[in-house]
Amino acid sequence: ATPISIMVSTGRAAGLGIVFRQGDALQRLRNVRVVAFDKTGTLTLGRPALSDALPMDDLSRSALLSAVASVQSASEHPIAHALLAAAKAEGLALAPVGEFTALTGAGVRGRVEGREWLLGNESLMRERGVPLDDTISAQVRTLAAQGKTVFLAVRDGRLAGVLAVSDTLRPGARAAIDRLHALGLKTALITGDHEAAARAVAGELGIDIVHAQTLPEHKAELLRTLRREAGDLAFVGDGINDAPALATADVGIAIGQGTDVAIESADVVLMNEDLNSVARAITLSRLTLRNIG
Ligand code: ADP
Ligand code: MG
Repeated sequence: ATPISIMVSTGRAAGLGIVFRQGDALQRLRNVRVVAFDKTGTLTLGRPALSDALPMDDLSRSALLSAVASVQSASEHPIAHALLAAAKAEGLALAPVGEFTALTGAGVRGRVEGREWLLGNESLMRERGVPLDDTISAQVRTLAAQGKTVFLAVRDGRLAGVLAVSDTLRPGARAAIDRLHALGLKTALITGDHEAAARAVAGELGIDIVHAQTLPEHKAELLRTLRREAGDLAFVGDGINDAPALATADVGIAIGQGTDVAIESADVVLMNEDLNSVARAITLSRLTLRNIG
């Protein structure tokens, strides 16, 4: 392939909303054997809605919701948006949150009306020594198996509620995965979410390899292992916490407008937000570069 044919191809791709930020990404794309995806915001739209709110102890559902939404008002996670929207829809008042901390890939904490709230996944709660009985783990698993993202609400060290949000698969996700398989590629899903939620989504989409409960800082390491086992790798992410994974993959592909950090770390940006563009870009790289060894 000549520099001219590469320019023509990347120009054509740009016209389809596939922007190559790195000149050699088209070459590297041709050798890709595995395409790994982030779940939330990539395979799903990343705009989840509240699906379940189960209060414990003496709490009412609305007391639980308004306290949880108050803490989440300081978070930028898609889960937080879902809770704020739910509180608003139910006309609940929010209280100011103090001492807020985001625990990346695990949850958030903050003080509301003099009480200490910790919101996040089961492993975070176990790590912090919150007592949880087996019925809670079973409840979390049941909700996660429905593809929902579950989190626990803990007030002053005691479990106060189980909540779940439900996201929608990105339109065309199933077809995009099918096309990658038709090109002879393997697909993988990498997420910080619960194993059961990851399996539900992967099952629906026909994804080959699933890695769940992965902390953001471990995603890059996991990609290196996957690469040793299965060959050159592309990672597709929406950017939230994904910058290291985008930078580690042979080809980092950011979907949508994303965050500035994500775009900086990506080789390719799918401005069209269309997952089908992954297969399209790979086909284009094969056609453009079919003449070199
Ligand atoms: P993903 O890899 O799917 O983007 P994250 O790494 O952002 O997931 O989050 C992993 C898990 O941590 C979530 O599934 C959730 O259980 C918990 N979590 C993260 N942020 C929050 C939050 N603001 N509120 C409640 N739980 C959270
Ligand atoms: Mg994400």
